Amino acid sequence: RMRRSPVECRPDIDTFTPGLLALYESLRPSEEHKSKQQQLVDSLAKSVSKEWPNAQLHLYGSSANSFGTSHSDVDVCLEMEIGTASTVEVLVRLADVLRADNFDNVEAITSARVPIVKMSDPGSGFSCDICINNLFAVANTKLLKDYAQIDQRLLQLAFLVKHWAKLRGVNETYRGTLSSYAYVLMCINFLQLREPKILPCLQAMEHTYTMTVDDTECAYFDELHQLQDFGAENKESIAELLWAFFDYWAFRHDYRRGVISVRTGSTISKQEKNWTTRVGNDRHLLCIEDPFETEHDLGRAVDRQTIRILKEEFERAAALLQYNNDPCVALFEPYDHEN
Ligand code: ATP
Ligand code: MG
Repeated sequence: RMRRSPVECRPDIDTFTPGLLALYESLRPSEEHKSKQQQLVDSLAKSVSKEWPNAQLHLYGSSANSFGTSHSDVDVCLEMEIGTASTVEVLVRLADVLRADNFDNVEAITSARVPIVKMSDPGSGFSCDICINNLFAVANTKLLKDYAQIDQRLLQLAFLVKHWAKLRGVNETYRGTLSSYAYVLMCINFLQLREPKILPCLQAMEHTYTMTVDDTECAYFDELHQLQDFGAENKESIAELLWAFFDYWAFRHDYRRGVISVRTGSTISKQEKNWTTRVGNDRHLLCIEDPFETEHDLGRAVDRQTIRILKEEFERAAALLQYNNDPCVALFEPYDHEN
């Protein structure tokens, strides 16, 4: 099954760059999309303020980290004092308030690691996830947004990878594959490791921004104007990078020992994180360290079966870009691994 991968990409790989960039442009959210999203946020804020006048509303996830497409949902975090009430009690109350205000399909999902209320907005038609006091998500949203401003190849690569992952059925944590957030971190780490580097490691630089969440310091360098030319020495095109990304995950990543770490801008060892054996449901087969919640392995949903599916998909994508004369059609061909 394993196809030997050459060390270098095909010499004519750049012929695919214009097509890939056109696809990237088509995935970017329109102005109309952004204004509809704002309408949703405004009507949600109005609803919430009646019951909780001091609540602050933060956008997080792809609607705020700049990695969102026209198909992305809207993720909202409410920051509020909840006193002696539990998060779940507040979410149940929030669901009642939203139903009364005529939002559609309102549902409190209280058993998840991060409990949320899901709903959709009849005005815009968008679906929306609301969590409470999950400020790590707000912090990592800013981190991703800041990385995206350093070199445009990050947004291009991550949009294409997310699009590929959704169509190939490998962007579903509840089925044992990876979240969009995990894919974006994989892209950031990959660009941190190029020679010459395309992205710096912001957390390893002087801390000009700090946000403390539950006693954890989320700190990094955020004076982005000083990093405008950071990746300029590296001339790799998006076609080359996309191939190299899949080639890395198909053939070069050390799944047995390695943990990718945006926090350090490198690959660290499972040993030092004590991620060498299965703990509970965390199998640690494909390890991605969360940049701030460093005890979190974002690959923890991956199991023996889905790691095989993921590797096959990485190999398939790398092979298409390497050998196919018109790879983009097959690369983004919808596929369902369950059927
Ligand atoms: P999409 O465009 O697919 O909606 P997204 O960036 O919103 O992409 P999600 O995977 O839905 O991605 O996650 C939303 C946000 O929630 C992430 O950007 C991140 O801030 C946070 N998040 C998601 N999963 C985790 C996790 N396992 N640990 C910590 N934060 C997470
Ligand atoms: Mg989202």
